[in-house]
Amino acid sequence: MQALVLEKFGGPFVQKEVPTPTIAPHEALVRVRAVGVCGTDVKIRANRMGLGVIPLIMGHEIAGEVEEVGEHVRGFAPGDRVIVNFYLTCGRCQFCRVGRDTLCPHVRQHGFSVDGGFAEYVKTPSVNLCKVPSHVPLEHACILGDAVATSYHAITKRAHVRPGTTVALIGVGGVGLHALQMAKLAGGWVIAVDVNEQRLHMAQRLGADAAIDARTGPFHEAIRKLTDGQGVDVVLEFVANQRTLPSTYQSLRRAGRLVFVGYVPEQPMSIMPHELVRNEFEIVGSRANTKQELHDTMDLVAGGRIKPIVDQVFPLAEIERAFDALREGRSLGRNVVAV
Ligand SMILES: [Zn+2]
Ligand SMILES: [Zn+2]
Repeated sequence: MQALVLEKFGGPFVQKEVPTPTIAPHEALVRVRAVGVCGTDVKIRANRMGLGVIPLIMGHEIAGEVEEVGEHVRGFAPGDRVIVNFYLTCGRCQFCRVGRDTLCPHVRQHGFSVDGGFAEYVKTPSVNLCKVPSHVPLEHACILGDAVATSYHAITKRAHVRPGTTVALIGVGGVGLHALQMAKLAGGWVIAVDVNEQRLHMAQRLGADAAIDARTGPFHEAIRKLTDGQGVDVVLEFVANQRTLPSTYQSLRRAGRLVFVGYVPEQPMSIMPHELVRNEFEIVGSRANTKQELHDTMDLVAGGRIKPIVDQVFPLAEIERAFDALREGRSLGRNVVAV
């Protein structure tokens, strides 16, 4: 099959012929049709995550059609339209048993340390497949695998957004625009913060109650103005760089909760323990999504309650254009490559 192979970190994707994967009895072979390009891909490619293994076929937001199934696979057949959950887990450890798949100590990820979707085919255990109804285009479905389902996990399981919860989203890019929709669906009052005017307009079209352009000054001041000087119940960080972190922390209301979804691997954050104590702040991480959450998210999208926000679809041969758009921070939603 044809694939784009990352042969050295920081290097180009090399298009070449590689063997088509052969499947085990519990696995399926998927003909890849569409793959989302994620901010994490830029970090994996540059080896800033410490998780990549080369040579590697990257791409972790994968949608396609089942080509072939192993003899033990039930419930899937050739031709089924599917998304591939990118977390490969053991299914037996204490975290897998309680449905916290992404904490599995044996975890490997498509596009990180196991071959992913920038190729004609990918193989995966059938337990990682989620069916896509015929009315949802695969160019939209692919981004559920991370951008949309990660938002679902963050808003419902880690941020605990409920009717009336005040929420600030720091960065409304590929993931943040979906977190916004999830937070509105959960009943939150949502402030979008970004440095891109077009993204802020899109956030407002998608239901944001307020939008703050972080280029105009420290955004925590604007957030406090909007909340009677109180701050918000929940802040979700999708950026977490040295410019956002101090304001992020100061945007919290007493008993507020800070949820990290995105991060810059090299960027530390300083906190004062006495502030945590006096305000009973909570600081938590939110890691991707479980297999079940991918199915839940698919139901929300199939029912028209969440809209996958895809900016542009590029042919696989023009993948660098998708990476350039990400590096330059000018995408409105996710970019996708068609395979
Ligand atoms: Zn991702
Ligand atoms: Zn496990």
